Parts: sequence; structure tokens; C-alpha cells
Amino acid sequence: MRIGFIGLGIMGGPMAANLIKAGHVVTGYDVSTERLAHLVSQGGRAAPGVAEAVAGAAAVITMLPDSPQVEEVAPLVVEHGAPGLLHLDMSTIRPETSRRVAARAAEHGMRALDAPVSGGERGAIDGTLSIMVGGDLEDVEAARPLLGVLGTTIVHVGPAGAGQTVKAANQLVVGGIYGLVSEAIVLLEASGVDAAAGLDVLAGGLAGSRILDLKRHTMVKREFVPGFRVDLHHKDMGIALAAAREAGVALPLTAQVAQLVAAARAQGHGALDHSALLKVIERLNT
Ligand code: NAD
Repeated sequence: MRIGFIGLGIMGGPMAANLIKAGHVVTGYDVSTERLAHLVSQGGRAAPGVAEAVAGAAAVITMLPDSPQVEEVAPLVVEHGAPGLLHLDMSTIRPETSRRVAARAAEHGMRALDAPVSGGERGAIDGTLSIMVGGDLEDVEAARPLLGVLGTTIVHVGPAGAGQTVKAANQLVVGGIYGLVSEAIVLLEASGVDAAAGLDVLAGGLAGSRILDLKRHTMVKREFVPGFRVDLHHKDMGIALAAAREAGVALPLTAQVAQLVAAARAQGHGALDHSALLKVIERLNT
């Protein structure tokens, strides 16, 4: 299939590479020329702009940082795309933006799905992402062969925007777990207990989690190479709190974690991996 791929960053880069490996023809665009050059080294084609990446594509995937970038690119997809085009926006953005993107696509005889992901850079590289899809069932089924290249858990969770709501729930859980793992490390070390050994035990018991599996060693070593940047998690906590407000529910733990992530950013750690929440908990104690 001819696929246009916009946004070739930490996640989009390896996702595009997996589509190429699966035999698809991928024409990509990114504002970063370095990212474009990387796509070409993986066997993809570089486009000079969104219009050229979209022209002639049967499907377009966007993997952009936030709602404003999707708001900027989505109208160009509609303007330059062929009728019937399938637009999979896999960025994590506000649910109402996804609903607007889907409505605009439908007005132009195109199909759009929100399909945000979980699983991090590792999941993107391995093609094992969890993908939560919002949109019409028929369109989700049409997208399944492509999504199956990128992920192993693909769930249709509801109409347009529902994928983003599920992703918001995912992010508040992830943020909360990072906060608690950070507190566990601070407690263990302050008590003179070897944190690495302690977390090994936690990882094998009821407190075990994928975060402990993947991140405990780097957290104890204070290695915070992203991964998933604090800046992006800050954006996601904002999306989660806005979704809670819209749904009329109180999420007190989420609000607390959002403040800790905001503190990480304010302390200058925005470009570090979100496991750098540990730095905030440490700072509270020094
Ligand atoms: P990133 O910053 O590494 O990649 C985004 C890419 O988009 C960059 O290469 C940037 O140059 C490009 N870009 C920005 N504006 C553009 C525009 N107008 N036109 C074309 N290209 C543009 O971010 P990422 O980590 O790959 O995350 C992408 C999305 O996926 C975000 O919404 C993020 O929240 C979500 N996400 C990330 C992870 C993770 O672990 N990194 C996991 C799950 C979901």
C-alpha cells in the first residue's frame, strides 16, 4: 500500500520503518531534515511537504507531538488526499481535536480514526504497540492490516475521540506508577537498603508492572535518556485533567501527579525521560 507518514520522531521513525519492512511504500514528511534522512536510510521516500507525502496515498499516518500540530497538518491531508483516503492519527491529542479531524474528513469523503498508542519507543521498534482506536467500526476493520504491522493489541474502543480518552486513562496510570516507583526508590535508599535489589523483588510480586520491568534499572542508575519526554507527559496530564472536567469527575491522584510532572518541567527536566519524576521526589527530600 502507498502510505504517507507525517511525523518521524522517536515513535514515528521506527513505525514507518516497520511498514517499509512489511512491504509498504512509505513517503514521509517531517520538519526535521535529519528525521527525513533517517527514513530514506530505512528504505522510505522523503517528501518536501505534507502535500507531497499525502498525494496518491491510500492511507496517511500522523504521529505528531500535540493537538496544534495535528490541527495544522490534518487540513492539508484533506486538501491533498484522494477520495476514500484513510487517515490514522496516532498522536496523543485532545479527544475533541480527534472528533473535529474525523468530522472534517467525513465532509470530504475521507475516513479518519484516532489511534493513539502505548508501549513506548521499544514497542514502536518491535511492532508490539497497544493501539486504542476510536472511529467507525468499518474503518477500523479497514485499518486493521496496517495497525497489525505496528502493534499486537488493537482494540476498537468507541466512536471518534474514544481512543484519545482511553490514552488519557493510560497516561494517568503510567504517571502515577512512575511517581510511586520514585517514592519507593527514595525510601529504600534513605533506609540504607539496596534499591536495585528491592525493586527486583517488587517486580516479581503483586507490585510488578511493565514500568518496573523496563525502567527500574535505569531509574536506579539515574539514566533518563528519552524514551518519552517529560514535556509530552505534561501535555498528556493536561489532556487527562481536561477529559475529567468534561466528564464531570474528580481525579485527585491524577491532579497530584500532574503537579509533580509540572514540577519536573519547571525544574528544567522537560527533555528528559518521564522516569525523571524521580528527580522531583528526590528534590522534595534534599
Ligand atoms: P517526537 O517529538 O520524537 O516526534 C514528533 C515528530 O514530529 C518530530 O520528529 C517533529 O520534528 C515532527 N513534527 C512536529 N511538527 C511537525 C509538523 N508540523 N509537520 C511535520 N512534522 C512535524 O515525539 P514522539 O515521542 O515520537 O511522540 C509522538 C506522539 O506519540 C506524541 O503525541 C506522544 O505523546 C505520543 N507517544 C509517544 C510515546 C513515546 O514513548 N515517545 C509513547 C506513546 C505515545
